[in-house]
Amino acid sequence: MSKHALIIGGGLGGLFCGYLLNRSRWDVTILEQGNQLGGALQTFSRDGIRFDTGFHSVGGLAPGEPLWEIFHPLGLMYLPWVKAGDDECIDGGPFMRLSGSSDFEIEHVIKPYQGSVWRLKGGGKTLVDALAKTQDYRLRKKVVSIRDREVLCSDNSTFRADVIVSAIHPRVTFDLVKDHVRSSYLKRLSKLEDGPGAVTLNCKLRDGMLRWEDHAIFIGNKVMIHFGEPDADGYAKSVDLMGFAPITPEEIKEIAATRLKDLQYAIEKCWVSTPATWERFTGTPGGSAFGIVKRSSADYLPPETPLPWLFLTGQNIGLHGVLGTCMSAVNTVNALNK
Ligand SMILES: Cc1cc2nc3c(=O)[nH]c(=O)nc-3n(C[C@H](O)[C@H](O)[C@H](O)COP(=O)(O)OP(=O)(O)OC[C@H]3O[C@@H](n4cnc5c(N)ncnc54)[C@H](O)[C@@H]3O)c2cc1C
Repeated sequence: MSKHALIIGGGLGGLFCGYLLNRSRWDVTILEQGNQLGGALQTFSRDGIRFDTGFHSVGGLAPGEPLWEIFHPLGLMYLPWVKAGDDECIDGGPFMRLSGSSDFEIEHVIKPYQGSVWRLKGGGKTLVDALAKTQDYRLRKKVVSIRDREVLCSDNSTFRADVIVSAIHPRVTFDLVKDHVRSSYLKRLSKLEDGPGAVTLNCKLRDGMLRWEDHAIFIGNKVMIHFGEPDADGYAKSVDLMGFAPITPEEIKEIAATRLKDLQYAIEKCWVSTPATWERFTGTPGGSAFGIVKRSSADYLPPETPLPWLFLTGQNIGLHGVLGTCMSAVNTVNALNK
């Protein structure tokens, strides 16, 4: 008989872990607090424009590269991946050059981007939908307590399983645990530092104002500019701007305008997400974009916890980004199948 795993959190970490567990004959149920799956990888539409939240590009998808090694055997290379222009590879990869990451993370997460950079048609939603297609997931299920293989949700529903995998922040997880946990473990969790909160601006552009560029733009280590889809004449329909707290949305716009001269006039409408918005959507303290900072591999957390039925996964236990989060899921599934 198959074992049953309950996964808390339907972001990439929970989804990828569930996808792998299904393939190794586990029954899986994913509990997601939000109205849609994806966590930081959500997609939303405003005024007919699709915006991506936490997915702009990935590195290392060419044959033999690290993400290809994970996705190819799982059949995920059939998704509509598009190789980005070489400028983005030369730049050394997107979001990692921003000041929100430690030197160790930059060294390890940036390398695959130096090989090749890829976008996905339809954005993060395309990956989320592909992973969710065959899975049992429940939306609007916010877990508020965990005790002895059982979870309680805010709507008073309960779920029980052989093992529980938490794909949310580890400290938040153990705030929910009602069983006794040794204090040295809790002390270790309390010492882990969260990276800075994300400040993001999703901007709808006026027609024919800004030329679409096939690569991300970095201004110092402060602001990243990423273009949405181009129109038929090669102009960008939208841009996403990103920085890290304490930067303000106005500062981000001003800095971005030093490279895109007409930006201020080109923006027709702008939807801003502050660290508080990010915290509300992902549950990550302080709206930290990449979760717990890893200054060395000593900051990695093992998927196993002091409770034999409770495991961890997601960006917080290893490196962040699509590659890092998927690698953590592989580690978690290996630990569960031991
Ligand atoms: C602005 C931004 C841009 C990025 N750009 C890129 C990029 O271009 N390329 C790249 O590779 N990576 C990028 N990343 C990083 C990437 O998005 C993340 O590393 C990855 O999505 C993290 O996934 P996760 O599942 O670990 O966490 P999350 O996405 O935070 O998922 C956690 C999930 O748990 C749910 N949850 C929380 N608490 C509860 C609860 N109590 N009960 C039930 N559910 C709960 C949340 O709603 C959420 O769905 C970006 C991130 C950000 C913020």
